[in-house]
Amino acid sequence: MSQPIIIACPHCHRKNRIDSDRLAESPRCGVCKAALFAGEPVVLDTGNFNTHASSELPLVVDFWAPWCGPCRQFAPTFAKAASELEPRVRLGKVNTEEQQALASRFGIRSIPTLLIMRGGKEIARVAGAMPPGQFMQWVNQQLG
Ligand SMILES: [Zn+2]
Repeated sequence: MSQPIIIACPHCHRKNRIDSDRLAESPRCGVCKAALFAGEPVVLDTGNFNTHASSELPLVVDFWAPWCGPCRQFAPTFAKAASELEPRVRLGKVNTEEQQALASRFGIRSIPTLLIMRGGKEIARVAGAMPPGQFMQWVNQQLG
């Protein structure tokens, strides 16, 4: 049975209703026509965070900062995971230097901190970077 699900566009952040059977067929945004899955993390800010967090796709968030060495080292792992986990999962990044309201809303004390949101709620969190295999395993465990 296919069901329509609501997902947010990574470019214009408008919500799209997509048949779940069509997720793997490179769907495009009905508003801006860009690919709904670009194989890279979405840049999240206070304006678009809730839209992506409340989408029906689980959202894995990387809270990072440009001055943080471990964050920069983890960035390629996170970016590569986006292409492997889409269209089952959305990945997004929050630059805590620019988005201090989001960092304080989630009580981020150390970076990188990784968070999984589903239906607008936090379902998992871990502090510290992980090697690629461990990261993928963590995400898959949380999402069953
Ligand atoms: Zn769009």
